[in-house]
Amino acid sequence: MTTDRFRFREWLQTVRSEHDSVTDAVVMVNMRRLRLMALVVSPLTLVLGVSYWLSASGADPHVVAWSRGHAWADFSMAGVMALLGLGAHHVLRLGHPVPLARGLILLTTFWTLGNTIVTSTLDQLYSPGITSFLFGSILIGAVPLMRPRRALPVFLGAYVLLYYALALTQHDSALLHIGRVNGLAAAVLSFFVSVVLWRQSTANILLHMELKSINDALKNSNDALAAKQGELEMLAQHDGLTGLYNRRTFTLLAQEELARARRYPSDTAVIMADIDFFKKVNDVYGHPAGDEVLRNMANCLSSNVRGSDVVARIGGEEFMVLLPQTSIEEAYLLAEKLRIRVQESPARVGDLHIPITASFGLTGVSAGQSVSVDELYTAADNALYGAKHQGRNRVVICAVGQTLQPSA
Ligand code: GH3
Ligand code: MG
Ligand code: MG
Repeated sequence: MTTDRFRFREWLQTVRSEHDSVTDAVVMVNMRRLRLMALVVSPLTLVLGVSYWLSASGADPHVVAWSRGHAWADFSMAGVMALLGLGAHHVLRLGHPVPLARGLILLTTFWTLGNTIVTSTLDQLYSPGITSFLFGSILIGAVPLMRPRRALPVFLGAYVLLYYALALTQHDSALLHIGRVNGLAAAVLSFFVSVVLWRQSTANILLHMELKSINDALKNSNDALAAKQGELEMLAQHDGLTGLYNRRTFTLLAQEELARARRYPSDTAVIMADIDFFKKVNDVYGHPAGDEVLRNMANCLSSNVRGSDVVARIGGEEFMVLLPQTSIEEAYLLAEKLRIRVQESPARVGDLHIPITASFGLTGVSAGQSVSVDELYTAADNALYGAKHQGRNRVVICAVGQTLQPSA
């Protein structure tokens, strides 16, 4: 017994929190429904009003008063519904639930029920039917979505009003009783329709929200995956310390450039640079200072070449620069410029200025010459070896396939 009550409470709590979570979405659904309802009800009640007005031509002044009263009730319904529809359209254009939206729904509910109670009461003068109230309550039960705990007092209150209002114009106790019983049936039916539609619609909205959040989560994880993939590609192509291309990427880019230079004949040059006595930097200033020297060297090289040139770190303190469409003479001038820039740009580590020099080995391919990347590496390496051997801090050229004569 206790378990059952507990479960019922749990169920009630779940339902409540579900209803709370759909409130904003329901407001917007209601705005769409209200706009549609206004489009139908406003012209319809206008036509009904006109027909009542025109029918008020009989000799009996009571009939005339009744018809005019009915017509005015319909005209006011047409006017108010048109304004409510415009209000709903305005909220829909704003795109988010504003306090006005809730006011529009309340007004629609009270106006429609109030108006149909008045017309049903008027009708009692000549007919015992409560058709008007039946239409009004079914409309309010089916069109605006209402939480059951709000719908209950609304329909109950409307019925109580109808109950007493009918007695104002219906003095035949049997007919009054029929009107009241029919009114009760209309109110109960409308409440039932309202609850069923509410449950169905909230379930749909919840499902939609869940799907949207799954979609959002999927999109987020896809974005994160794409970012990670980009990061991995970046890591695979670049050197982690200096941010320059690594040896593998340099080789690929050099292969592409050599193929392009064969297809559209042009000169290509390559510079290999190596910091002189770098081991000493590590020994004297420590490894982190050595790293800073490497970053400084990378910066010095990349900031003094063209955007179309390719700079890479291919080993510990060894760098390569690929110069597309550059003759060996032009490359020599650039290598000299780089050598001087390196010499003039000591690395800054805290207050320390660490001066360095570098040796440069230069080689090149003339237009139309067919050379592999490995052959270029070997020639540049030979040239660099020559530069080290000749005393460092200099530029030495070695043609592809040539071996440098060791100098004294
Ligand atoms: P040489 O003038 O003949 O080129 O002499 P060197 O001292 O520059 O050359 P060597 O090959 O003897 O030393 C290279 C040093 O570079 C040894 C190694 O510890 C250091 N090194 C390699 N990679 C890194 C790195 O990523 N960071 C630092 N700080 N040092 C590195
Ligand atoms: Mg070195
Ligand atoms: Mg070296």
